[in-house]
Amino acid sequence: MNRKFREIDATLRGLNYSTDAHFKWLVTILRFVANRDVELPEITHDDAHHRCEFGLWLNNQLQDEQNDSHYLLDISAKHHQVHQTCRQIMASIERQEECPASYDAFEVALLAFTESLSHYKAHLLQLRTSYDALTGLPLRRILDESFDRLNAGAEERGLYLLLLDIDHFKKVNDNYGHLTGDAVLRSLALHLEDNVRRSESAYRYGGEEFIILLRANNDREAAAAAERLRHIIADAETIFGGHTIRITFTSGLTRVHRGEPLREVLERADMALYRGKHGGRNCTMLINRNLDCINVST
Ligand code: GH3
Ligand code: MG
Ligand code: MG
Repeated sequence: MNRKFREIDATLRGLNYSTDAHFKWLVTILRFVANRDVELPEITHDDAHHRCEFGLWLNNQLQDEQNDSHYLLDISAKHHQVHQTCRQIMASIERQEECPASYDAFEVALLAFTESLSHYKAHLLQLRTSYDALTGLPLRRILDESFDRLNAGAEERGLYLLLLDIDHFKKVNDNYGHLTGDAVLRSLALHLEDNVRRSESAYRYGGEEFIILLRANNDREAAAAAERLRHIIADAETIFGGHTIRITFTSGLTRVHRGEPLREVLERADMALYRGKHGGRNCTMLINRNLDCINVST
């Protein structure tokens, strides 16, 4: 399952767990009020917001997360406010003073805190829909959104797009059933992800078509990377429901030129893929900007 997809799920789980921890913290406050001789750092200390279970989780997230840091910083500020207003109530209880304003401030802080959590959860759930539920791979939308940035990046090596389509996949479904077909798609996605570099990405483009953005210095290197993947998949077996399934794919490979729109690159790769299917399948077809297309299978 894709790393980013797993991270989203783990963050959502962590968020739910840590929100529960904050409800427990509220109960701890009640205990503390009833029995004030105990010292509870997660309530009384100036840095209580770093000591409660939620604060510990949040600090870890802030260290790890770069993309969503503005959501986390907002949550962190609201969380700090919850602890601060809570301490003000504690202080007024301590002094046996009437201080209704401090209760109002606590309520406002709690509501702002839960609102900031909801915003982050909504963002994560929205992000999750950009990933394929079956394979965990990013969907086309992520490719559309990130393509121009990847193509304009400072990376020295060239960018190549590999569009691949499983050969005779309909037969897998027809012969072994749709669930087996799903298992084959999951297994293919896993193999692709395991065998591309961290700077490269695999996407589920639709149905049994996948895209890989490869990094290579020249056509020869890109073709070698594409061929390596083709052989890995052809050698892999998916064992499901008592059947052992092997598949092959045909692909169109093309260099992405600076500033070139994704649509143009895809059209070219698709043309090469089509040629590969008609030439007998299970091959890698390299196509250039002049639409010269050659079979680079080894
Ligand atoms: P070709 O070599 O020409 O690509 O033949 P093909 O059979 O792979 O191509 P075709 O377009 O005829 O069939 C694609 C099949 O992929 C049909 C569709 O049901 C199946 N498919 C697409 N998405 C999924 C999926 O998520 N799960 C399963 N099990 N099958 C899927
Ligand atoms: Mg297809
Ligand atoms: Mg196919």
